[in-house]
Amino acid sequence: MPRPILATIHTAALAHNFARARAFAPDARAWAIVKANAYGHGLVRAFEGLRSADGFALLDLAEAQALRSLDWRGPILLLEGCFEARDLELCSRLGLWHVVHCNEQIDMLAAHKTQLPHRVFLKMNSGMNRLGFKPERFRAAWIRLNALPQVEEISLMTHFSDADGAKGIAAQLQAFEAVTHDLPGERTLSNSAGALRHADALAERSDWIRPGIAVYGSAPDFPEHSAADWGLLPTMTLASKIIAVQQLVAGDSVGYGSSFTADGPLRIGVVACGYADGYPRHCTTGTPVLVGGVRCRLLGRVSMDMVTVDLTPAPEAGMGTEVILWGRASSGALLPIDEVAMAAGTVAYELMCALSPRVPLLASDW
Ligand SMILES: *Cc1c(COP(=O)(O)O)cnc(C)c1O
Repeated sequence: MPRPILATIHTAALAHNFARARAFAPDARAWAIVKANAYGHGLVRAFEGLRSADGFALLDLAEAQALRSLDWRGPILLLEGCFEARDLELCSRLGLWHVVHCNEQIDMLAAHKTQLPHRVFLKMNSGMNRLGFKPERFRAAWIRLNALPQVEEISLMTHFSDADGAKGIAAQLQAFEAVTHDLPGERTLSNSAGALRHADALAERSDWIRPGIAVYGSAPDFPEHSAADWGLLPTMTLASKIIAVQQLVAGDSVGYGSSFTADGPLRIGVVACGYADGYPRHCTTGTPVLVGGVRCRLLGRVSMDMVTVDLTPAPEAGMGTEVILWGRASSGALLPIDEVAMAAGTVAYELMCALSPRVPLLASDW
Protein backbone atom coordinates (compact mmCIF):
# COMPACT_ATOMS: atom_id res chain seq x y z
CA MET A 1 0.00 0.00 0.00
CA PRO A 2 1.34 3.46 -0.82
CA ARG A 3 1.89 5.83 2.07
CA PRO A 4 -1.62 7.04 2.85
CA ILE A 5 -1.07 10.73 2.14
CA LEU A 6 -3.18 12.35 -0.59
CA ALA A 7 -4.14 15.81 -1.80
CA THR A 8 -7.54 16.08 -3.43
CA ILE A 9 -8.39 18.99 -5.71
CA HIS A 10 -12.09 19.84 -5.74
CA THR A 11 -12.80 21.05 -9.25
CA ALA A 12 -16.47 21.85 -8.60
CA ALA A 13 -15.40 24.01 -5.65
CA LEU A 14 -13.03 25.89 -7.96
CA ALA A 15 -15.94 26.58 -10.29
CA HIS A 16 -18.12 27.63 -7.36
CA ASN A 17 -15.50 30.01 -5.94
CA PHE A 18 -14.79 31.53 -9.32
CA ALA A 19 -18.50 32.26 -9.74
CA ARG A 20 -18.54 33.81 -6.25
CA ALA A 21 -15.65 36.13 -7.12
CA ARG A 22 -17.31 37.09 -10.40
CA ALA A 23 -20.53 37.98 -8.61
CA PHE A 24 -18.70 40.89 -6.96
CA ALA A 25 -18.01 42.44 -10.38
CA PRO A 26 -20.82 41.16 -12.57
CA ASP A 27 -20.07 43.58 -15.40
CA ALA A 28 -16.38 42.81 -15.58
CA ARG A 29 -14.59 39.92 -17.17
CA ALA A 30 -12.53 37.75 -14.89
CA TRP A 31 -9.08 36.30 -15.20
CA ALA A 32 -8.49 33.07 -13.37
CA ILE A 33 -5.05 33.49 -11.83
CA VAL A 34 -3.27 30.18 -12.29
CA LYS A 35 0.34 31.14 -11.58
CA ALA A 36 2.52 28.83 -9.51
CA ASN A 37 0.93 25.73 -10.96
CA ALA A 38 -2.49 27.10 -10.06
CA TYR A 39 -1.48 27.86 -6.47
CA GLY A 40 -0.23 24.30 -6.10
CA HIS A 41 -3.45 22.73 -7.41
CA GLY A 42 -1.97 21.62 -10.73
CA LEU A 43 -2.64 23.62 -13.85
CA VAL A 44 -4.50 20.88 -15.70
CA ARG A 45 -6.82 20.09 -12.80
CA ALA A 46 -7.47 23.75 -12.06
CA PHE A 47 -8.25 24.35 -15.72
CA GLU A 48 -10.99 21.70 -15.49
CA GLY A 49 -12.69 23.67 -12.74
CA LEU A 50 -12.09 27.10 -14.25
CA ARG A 51 -13.24 26.70 -17.83
CA SER A 52 -15.80 29.46 -17.33
CA ALA A 53 -12.99 32.03 -16.94
CA ASP A 54 -12.66 34.76 -19.54
CA GLY A 55 -8.92 34.29 -19.51
CA PHE A 56 -6.03 32.78 -17.59
CA ALA A 57 -3.23 34.81 -16.05
CA LEU A 58 0.11 33.34 -15.09
CA LEU A 59 3.84 33.98 -15.10
CA ASP A 60 5.57 31.09 -16.74
CA LEU A 61 5.75 30.70 -20.50
CA ALA A 62 5.78 26.94 -20.18
CA GLU A 63 2.47 27.12 -18.30
CA ALA A 64 1.06 29.35 -21.04
CA GLN A 65 2.15 26.77 -23.57
CA ALA A 66 0.53 24.02 -21.50
CA LEU A 67 -2.78 25.91 -21.54
CA ARG A 68 -2.64 26.28 -25.31
CA SER A 69 -2.00 22.57 -25.64
CA LEU A 70 -5.13 21.96 -23.55
CA ASP A 71 -6.81 23.77 -26.43
CA TRP A 72 -7.52 26.98 -24.55
CA ARG A 73 -7.95 29.52 -27.35
CA GLY A 74 -9.03 32.47 -25.18
CA PRO A 75 -6.88 35.15 -23.55
CA ILE A 76 -3.74 34.30 -21.62
CA LEU A 77 -1.93 37.09 -19.78
CA LEU A 78 1.70 36.97 -18.64
CA LEU A 79 1.62 38.88 -15.35
CA GLU A 80 5.33 39.69 -15.28
CA GLY A 81 5.54 40.08 -19.05
CA CYS A 82 8.52 38.89 -21.02
CA PHE A 83 11.86 38.13 -19.44
CA GLU A 84 13.92 38.20 -22.60
CA ALA A 85 13.48 39.21 -26.23
CA ARG A 86 12.78 35.76 -27.59
CA ASP A 87 9.81 35.34 -25.22
CA LEU A 88 8.07 37.76 -27.57
CA GLU A 89 8.27 35.21 -30.36
CA LEU A 90 6.27 32.80 -28.24
CA CYS A 91 3.79 35.58 -27.43
CA SER A 92 3.33 36.18 -31.16
CA ARG A 93 3.02 32.51 -31.95
CA LEU A 94 0.63 31.62 -29.11
CA GLY A 95 -1.25 34.92 -29.04
CA LEU A 96 -0.26 35.70 -25.45
CA TRP A 97 -1.06 39.06 -23.94
CA HIS A 98 1.69 40.41 -21.76
CA VAL A 99 2.32 42.95 -19.07
CA VAL A 100 4.78 45.73 -19.81
CA HIS A 101 6.20 47.08 -16.57
CA CYS A 102 9.58 48.58 -17.51
CA ASN A 103 11.39 50.38 -20.31
CA GLU A 104 13.51 47.35 -21.13
CA GLN A 105 10.34 45.48 -22.11
CA ILE A 106 9.34 48.35 -24.40
CA ASP A 107 12.81 48.21 -25.99
CA MET A 108 12.36 44.50 -26.63
CA LEU A 109 8.97 45.11 -28.23
CA ALA A 110 10.33 47.89 -30.40
CA ALA A 111 12.95 45.49 -31.76
CA HIS A 112 10.52 42.60 -32.20
CA LYS A 113 9.49 41.48 -35.69
CA THR A 114 5.93 40.26 -35.73
CA GLN A 115 3.10 39.79 -38.20
CA LEU A 116 0.44 40.25 -35.58
CA PRO A 117 0.63 43.25 -33.27
CA HIS A 118 0.43 42.46 -29.57
CA ARG A 119 -2.03 43.27 -26.84
CA VAL A 120 -0.17 44.60 -23.82
CA PHE A 121 -1.10 45.55 -20.27
CA LEU A 122 0.85 48.60 -19.19
CA LYS A 123 1.43 48.41 -15.49
CA MET A 124 1.59 51.33 -13.11
CA ASN A 125 3.52 51.21 -9.88
CA SER A 126 0.89 53.07 -7.88
CA GLY A 127 2.59 52.47 -4.54
CA MET A 128 3.49 48.83 -4.12
CA ASN A 129 6.97 49.38 -5.54
CA ARG A 130 7.44 46.03 -7.17
CA LEU A 131 6.57 46.20 -10.87
CA GLY A 132 5.43 49.08 -13.02
CA PHE A 133 6.05 52.63 -14.09
CA LYS A 134 5.76 55.32 -11.45
CA PRO A 135 2.76 57.59 -12.06
CA GLU A 136 4.98 60.41 -13.35
CA ARG A 137 6.55 58.07 -15.93
CA PHE A 138 3.41 56.23 -16.94
CA ARG A 139 2.24 58.57 -19.70
CA ALA A 140 5.61 58.62 -21.42
CA ALA A 141 5.57 54.82 -21.43
CA TRP A 142 2.04 54.80 -22.83
CA ILE A 143 2.97 57.27 -25.59
CA ARG A 144 6.01 55.21 -26.51
CA LEU A 145 4.03 51.97 -26.64
CA ASN A 146 1.22 53.60 -28.56
CA ALA A 147 3.65 54.63 -31.29
CA LEU A 148 4.93 51.08 -31.85
CA PRO A 149 3.59 49.15 -34.82
CA GLN A 150 4.18 45.99 -32.74
CA VAL A 151 1.41 47.05 -30.35
CA GLU A 152 -2.24 46.69 -31.20
CA GLU A 153 -3.96 47.53 -27.96
CA ILE A 154 -2.88 48.91 -24.60
CA SER A 155 -4.74 48.04 -21.41
CA LEU A 156 -4.01 49.67 -18.07
CA MET A 157 -3.14 47.85 -14.91
CA THR A 158 -2.04 48.28 -11.33
CA HIS A 159 -1.86 46.07 -8.24
CA PHE A 160 -2.94 46.88 -4.68
CA SER A 161 -0.69 46.28 -1.69
CA ASP A 162 -3.36 46.67 1.01
CA ALA A 163 -6.73 45.73 -0.41
CA ASP A 164 -7.04 43.20 2.44
CA GLY A 165 -6.26 45.55 5.30
CA ALA A 166 -6.78 48.82 7.11
CA LYS A 167 -4.75 50.99 4.74
CA GLY A 168 -7.08 50.08 1.88
CA ILE A 169 -6.83 51.14 -1.75
CA ALA A 170 -7.72 54.84 -1.75
CA ALA A 171 -4.22 56.29 -2.24
CA GLN A 172 -3.27 53.84 -4.96
CA LEU A 173 -6.58 54.24 -6.71
CA GLN A 174 -6.17 58.00 -6.69
CA ALA A 175 -2.64 57.77 -8.09
CA PHE A 176 -3.90 55.50 -10.87
CA GLU A 177 -6.92 57.63 -11.69
CA ALA A 178 -5.01 60.89 -11.74
CA VAL A 179 -2.79 59.68 -14.55
CA THR A 180 -5.09 57.37 -16.50
CA HIS A 181 -8.49 59.09 -16.42
CA ASP A 182 -8.22 60.36 -19.99
CA LEU A 183 -6.35 57.40 -21.48
CA PRO A 184 -8.25 54.86 -23.55
CA GLY A 185 -8.03 51.14 -22.87
CA GLU A 186 -9.40 48.49 -20.58
CA ARG A 187 -8.56 48.56 -16.89
CA THR A 188 -7.63 45.80 -14.49
CA LEU A 189 -6.98 46.62 -10.86
CA SER A 190 -8.24 44.09 -8.36
CA ASN A 191 -6.84 40.94 -6.87
CA SER A 192 -9.17 38.85 -4.69
CA ALA A 193 -9.11 41.26 -1.77
CA GLY A 194 -9.82 44.21 -4.06
CA ALA A 195 -12.65 42.41 -5.83
CA LEU A 196 -14.33 41.17 -2.66
CA ARG A 197 -13.78 44.06 -0.26
CA HIS A 198 -13.80 47.06 -2.58
CA ALA A 199 -16.37 46.00 -5.12
CA ASP A 200 -18.24 49.30 -5.03
CA ALA A 201 -15.21 51.56 -5.35
CA LEU A 202 -13.89 49.51 -8.25
CA ALA A 203 -17.08 48.64 -10.10
CA GLU A 204 -16.79 51.36 -12.72
CA ARG A 205 -13.07 50.97 -13.13
CA SER A 206 -12.88 47.22 -13.65
CA ASP A 207 -13.00 45.76 -17.12
CA TRP A 208 -11.20 42.72 -15.75
CA ILE A 209 -10.82 41.42 -12.21
CA ARG A 210 -7.93 39.17 -11.20
CA PRO A 211 -9.08 36.86 -8.41
CA GLY A 212 -6.54 34.31 -7.22
CA ILE A 213 -6.62 33.16 -3.62
CA ALA A 214 -10.40 33.44 -3.28
CA VAL A 215 -10.81 31.03 -6.17
CA TYR A 216 -8.70 28.58 -4.19
CA GLY A 217 -11.05 28.80 -1.22
CA SER A 218 -9.11 31.05 1.12
CA ALA A 219 -10.42 34.33 2.53
CA PRO A 220 -8.09 37.13 1.38
CA ASP A 221 -8.72 38.96 4.64
CA PHE A 222 -8.68 36.12 7.18
CA PRO A 223 -9.26 36.31 10.13
CA GLU A 224 -11.44 39.40 9.67
CA HIS A 225 -13.53 37.20 7.41
CA SER A 226 -13.44 33.46 6.95
CA ALA A 227 -13.81 31.61 3.67
CA ALA A 228 -17.32 30.65 4.79
CA ASP A 229 -18.18 34.32 5.37
CA TRP A 230 -17.37 34.96 1.70
CA GLY A 231 -19.21 31.81 0.59
CA LEU A 232 -15.99 30.11 -0.54
CA LEU A 233 -15.41 26.36 -0.46
CA PRO A 234 -12.13 24.53 0.09
CA THR A 235 -10.52 23.49 -3.18
CA MET A 236 -7.69 21.41 -1.74
CA THR A 237 -7.85 18.70 0.90
CA LEU A 238 -4.67 17.32 2.40
CA ALA A 239 -5.52 13.96 3.95
CA SER A 240 -3.60 11.17 5.61
CA LYS A 241 -4.19 8.45 8.17
CA ILE A 242 -3.15 7.41 11.63
CA ILE A 243 -0.30 4.93 11.31
CA ALA A 244 0.41 4.37 15.04
CA VAL A 245 -1.18 5.01 18.41
CA GLN A 246 0.69 5.67 21.66
CA GLN A 247 -0.67 5.72 25.19
CA LEU A 248 1.17 8.32 27.26
CA VAL A 249 1.33 8.72 31.02
CA ALA A 250 1.99 11.91 32.97
CA GLY A 251 5.49 13.19 32.27
CA ASP A 252 5.86 11.49 28.85
CA SER A 253 6.93 13.86 26.11
CA VAL A 254 6.33 13.75 22.36
CA GLY A 255 8.64 14.13 19.40
CA TYR A 256 11.85 16.06 18.74
CA GLY A 257 12.89 18.47 21.44
CA SER A 258 10.25 17.02 23.79
CA SER A 259 8.31 20.23 23.24
CA PHE A 260 5.07 18.72 24.53
CA THR A 261 4.76 16.86 27.82
CA ALA A 262 1.62 15.04 28.93
CA ASP A 263 0.30 16.05 32.35
CA GLY A 264 -1.82 12.93 32.64
CA PRO A 265 -2.80 9.83 30.68
CA LEU A 266 -3.14 10.73 27.01
CA ARG A 267 -3.87 8.75 23.88
CA ILE A 268 -2.13 10.13 20.82
CA GLY A 269 -2.13 9.26 17.13
CA VAL A 270 0.83 9.40 14.78
CA VAL A 271 -0.10 10.72 11.33
CA ALA A 272 1.74 10.06 8.06
CA CYS A 273 2.30 13.69 7.12
CA GLY A 274 5.24 15.96 7.85
CA TYR A 275 7.06 19.00 6.57
CA ALA A 276 8.47 17.01 3.65
CA ASP A 277 4.88 16.76 2.45
CA GLY A 278 4.44 20.52 2.70
CA TYR A 279 2.81 20.61 6.11
CA PRO A 280 4.33 23.66 7.80
CA ARG A 281 6.96 22.90 10.41
CA HIS A 282 6.00 26.09 12.22
CA CYS A 283 2.70 24.59 13.36
CA THR A 284 2.84 24.02 17.08
CA THR A 285 0.77 22.30 19.76
CA GLY A 286 -2.85 23.33 19.36
CA THR A 287 -2.98 23.57 15.56
CA PRO A 288 -6.36 22.11 14.51
CA VAL A 289 -6.53 18.74 12.72
CA LEU A 290 -9.61 16.63 11.87
CA VAL A 291 -9.41 13.02 13.01
CA GLY A 292 -12.32 10.96 11.72
CA GLY A 293 -14.05 14.29 11.11
CA VAL A 294 -13.57 15.42 14.72
CA ARG A 295 -11.54 18.49 15.57
CA CYS A 296 -8.39 17.55 17.48
CA ARG A 297 -5.10 19.32 18.15
CA LEU A 298 -1.56 18.83 17.01
CA LEU A 299 0.95 17.94 19.73
CA GLY A 300 4.66 18.76 19.79
CA ARG A 301 6.88 19.38 16.79
CA VAL A 302 6.15 18.58 13.17
CA SER A 303 8.76 16.13 11.88
CA MET A 304 9.77 15.42 8.31
CA ASP A 305 7.31 12.57 7.76
CA MET A 306 4.97 12.60 10.77
CA VAL A 307 2.90 14.68 13.12
CA THR A 308 1.29 13.64 16.38
CA VAL A 309 -2.25 14.47 17.48
CA ASP A 310 -4.23 14.37 20.70
CA LEU A 311 -6.96 11.72 20.30
CA THR A 312 -8.92 12.76 23.41
CA PRO A 313 -11.85 14.25 21.41
CA ALA A 314 -11.90 11.19 19.10
CA PRO A 315 -11.77 8.10 21.33
CA GLU A 316 -12.97 5.87 18.48
CA ALA A 317 -10.00 6.82 16.33
CA GLY A 318 -7.22 4.30 15.82
CA MET A 319 -4.99 2.80 13.20
CA GLY A 320 -6.13 3.85 9.72
CA THR A 321 -8.52 6.60 10.81
CA GLU A 322 -8.72 9.46 8.30
CA VAL A 323 -6.85 12.62 9.25
CA ILE A 324 -7.49 15.92 7.48
CA LEU A 325 -4.67 18.42 7.70
CA TRP A 326 -6.77 21.00 5.81
CA GLY A 327 -9.82 20.88 3.59
CA ARG A 328 -12.84 18.61 3.78
CA ALA A 329 -13.29 15.36 5.70
CA SER A 330 -15.29 12.50 4.21
CA SER A 331 -17.89 13.26 6.90
CA GLY A 332 -18.26 16.71 5.34
CA ALA A 333 -16.56 18.49 8.26
CA LEU A 334 -14.34 21.36 7.13
CA LEU A 335 -10.96 22.52 8.34
CA PRO A 336 -10.19 25.87 6.67
CA ILE A 337 -6.64 26.08 5.36
CA ASP A 338 -6.58 29.66 6.67
CA GLU A 339 -6.70 28.37 10.26
CA VAL A 340 -3.74 26.09 9.70
CA ALA A 341 -1.80 28.85 7.96
CA MET A 342 -2.45 31.19 10.84
CA ALA A 343 -1.23 28.60 13.34
CA ALA A 344 1.97 28.42 11.31
CA GLY A 345 2.33 32.20 11.18
CA THR A 346 1.82 32.30 7.44
CA VAL A 347 -0.89 32.53 4.78
CA ALA A 348 -2.83 29.91 2.88
CA TYR A 349 -1.04 30.87 -0.35
CA GLU A 350 2.21 29.49 1.03
CA LEU A 351 0.67 26.23 2.21
CA MET A 352 -0.98 25.53 -1.13
CA CYS A 353 2.11 26.41 -3.12
CA ALA A 354 4.39 24.42 -0.84
CA LEU A 355 2.54 21.13 -1.20
CA SER A 356 5.36 18.70 -1.90
CA PRO A 357 5.73 16.83 -5.19
CA ARG A 358 5.81 13.59 -3.21
CA VAL A 359 2.13 14.04 -2.32
CA PRO A 360 -0.07 12.42 -4.96
CA LEU A 361 -2.75 14.75 -6.33
CA LEU A 362 -6.18 13.51 -7.21
CA ALA A 363 -8.97 15.48 -8.85
CA SER A 364 -12.47 15.00 -7.52
CA ASP A 365 -15.50 16.62 -9.03
CA TRP A 366 -17.08 17.23 -5.67
C1 LIG B 1 -1.16 36.83 -7.90
C2 LIG B 1 -1.76 38.03 -8.51
C3 LIG B 1 -3.13 38.28 -8.40
C4 LIG B 1 -4.04 37.43 -7.55
O1 LIG B 1 -3.88 37.79 -6.22
P1 LIG B 1 -4.76 37.09 -5.06
O2 LIG B 1 -4.35 37.81 -3.84
O3 LIG B 1 -4.32 35.67 -5.03
O4 LIG B 1 -6.16 37.25 -5.44
C5 LIG B 1 -3.65 39.35 -9.07
N1 LIG B 1 -2.86 40.17 -9.80
C6 LIG B 1 -1.53 39.98 -9.92
C7 LIG B 1 -0.72 40.91 -10.74
C8 LIG B 1 -0.93 38.90 -9.29
O5 LIG B 1 0.38 38.71 -9.40
